[in-house]
Amino acid sequence: PAGPALLEVKGLHAWYGESHVLHGVDLRVREGETVCLLGRNGAGKTTTLRAILGIVGRRQGGVSFDGRDLTRMPLHGPARVGLGYVPEHRGIFAGLTVAENLMLPPKGAEGGMSVDEIHALFPNLKERRTSPGTKLSGGEQQMLAIARILRTGPKMILLDEPTEGLAPVIVQRIAAALRQLKARGLTVLVVEQNFRFARNIADRFYVMEGGVVVDAFGAQEVEGRLDRLHELLGV
Ligand code: ATP
Repeated sequence: PAGPALLEVKGLHAWYGESHVLHGVDLRVREGETVCLLGRNGAGKTTTLRAILGIVGRRQGGVSFDGRDLTRMPLHGPARVGLGYVPEHRGIFAGLTVAENLMLPPKGAEGGMSVDEIHALFPNLKERRTSPGTKLSGGEQQMLAIARILRTGPKMILLDEPTEGLAPVIVQRIAAALRQLKARGLTVLVVEQNFRFARNIADRFYVMEGGVVVDAFGAQEVEGRLDRLHELLGV
C-alpha cells in the first residue's frame, strides 16, 4: 500500500549497558501494512522493537509514530498513542481466566475490539474462556496475548516471534487472524524466524544482521531471494 509512514525509524542506535547493539536501523511501516523483520538469532530484531518503545538501556536516533516523536515520550507513551506490543514471552496474567484477562484493558480505551469480536477472531479463546491462563496451550497463550492488546484499540502492533514453538495448525490460525486484522486496517510489524509464516502474512520484509538492516524487499521479490534467505535463515 502507498501512503505516508505510520512508523518511521531513522538511524536508530541502542545500547544495553556498554554493549552497543543497534548501529543505525532504518525502517518504515505504512498504514495498513504488515511488515516482517527477519534475521538470525542475535541480529537485533527484538532490540529494534524494544528500542522503538524505549525499553533499552539507551537509544539514539529517530522514532516517529503517527506523526509523534516517540523518543520524547515516557514509557507508557507508545501504548497511549496506539502502538501495542506483544513481547516474545507473551503478556498474559497466568492466574486469571481467559475471560478475566480480556476484562483488563484500561477503562476508556476507545475503539478497542469487543470480547465478541475477539471470540470471532480466535474461536479457541471462546471455548476456553473459563480456563485459567496456566491451563492454556502455547498457542492459546499467544492468541490471548494478542487479544489483550487488541482490546486496547491500537492502530499498530509490534509482535515478537508470535509463532515460536507452536504447532503448524496453530501457526496457520494465527496467520489467519493476522490477515483478518489487516483487512480491518491494523498495521503490523512482526519479528519472525518462521519464514513460511512470514511469507504468508507480510507485504514487505526487512532483513537484519549485526544490528543494522541489510536488505529490504516486497512480497513479490521473495522468489528471487530464496537462495540468499536460505543461507541467512536456513529456510
Ligand atoms: P533473538 O531471536 O535471539 O532474540 P534478535 O535478532 O532478536 O535475536 P536481540 O535479542 O535483539 O536479537 O539481540 C541483539 C544482541 O543484543 C545480541 O548480541 C544479544 O546478545 C544482545 N542482548 C540482547 N538483550 C540484551 C540484554 N538485556 N543485555 C545485554 N545484551 C543483550
